Amino acid sequence: MIRHSLPHNKTGLGYWYVVSQGKLFLPNDSELPRPQTLQQLELALDGTEMLCQIGEIDQLPCYLLQYQDRPEPEDHWHSARQFLMYGEQHFEHAARACQVALFLQTHKFCGQCGSSMHLVNWELAALCHKCGHRCYPRINPCVLIAVVNSQHQLLLARSARHKTGFFSILAGFVESAETLEQAAIREVAEEVGVVITNLRYAGSQPWPFPHSLMTAFIADYQSGELRCQPEEIEEAHWFDLDKLPDVPGEVTLSGQIIQQLVNANCRK
Ligand SMILES: [Zn+2]
Repeated sequence: MIRHSLPHNKTGLGYWYVVSQGKLFLPNDSELPRPQTLQQLELALDGTEMLCQIGEIDQLPCYLLQYQDRPEPEDHWHSARQFLMYGEQHFEHAARACQVALFLQTHKFCGQCGSSMHLVNWELAALCHKCGHRCYPRINPCVLIAVVNSQHQLLLARSARHKTGFFSILAGFVESAETLEQAAIREVAEEVGVVITNLRYAGSQPWPFPHSLMTAFIADYQSGELRCQPEEIEEAHWFDLDKLPDVPGEVTLSGQIIQQLVNANCRK
């Protein structure tokens, strides 16, 4: 069992990210997270919790406290998405808290020999003292690809998994031994049958659902007719940049890239 003792700092003053089964505790969902002691959080502890420091904000520690079973009331537990409204810094720590919590939960035992794992005290890793197997929190890289054509149109698609969802730029997971650029080219070809060229890196964002790292590219259309892969894409179209459908908000990287392209088009 991976366990860390309570903070040496007696008061435990810091930012607390309390996680249970993928949800974060927020006593008041309209109030900005503030530094508190563990006592001020007024959460009952039964000794089965896991604790570790996951970063700092304004020189104060940020702690992850993980519960096996989520204490009541249920309406105080939220998705890390909720932290997007508190700004980048809090979202980043909420994202890390969720990912580290999942890591702790899924690395109690060694995947190689089955012995108990121990948390390394100088880096975020789990180590098996018997066979030396060491694990780090999993991060799945994903690519987002905004394809534009020579008529200033943007390629947007609606996922087959969310039929009522937004139109957005294309997205996919990076496969083993693939560069981000190769993944972007492959995903666009597979999902909509289009060949792209001239890829430009456009940014990245951690996305803790459950442990992705989004990386974005803008690319130019080269050739091919739109042909949707039925398992992945419900529909895909070229949209004029001044007449876009409902797209994701700017808290998401895809929303930011779309807005960046719209703004650049307005200046033309
Ligand atoms: Zn082992």
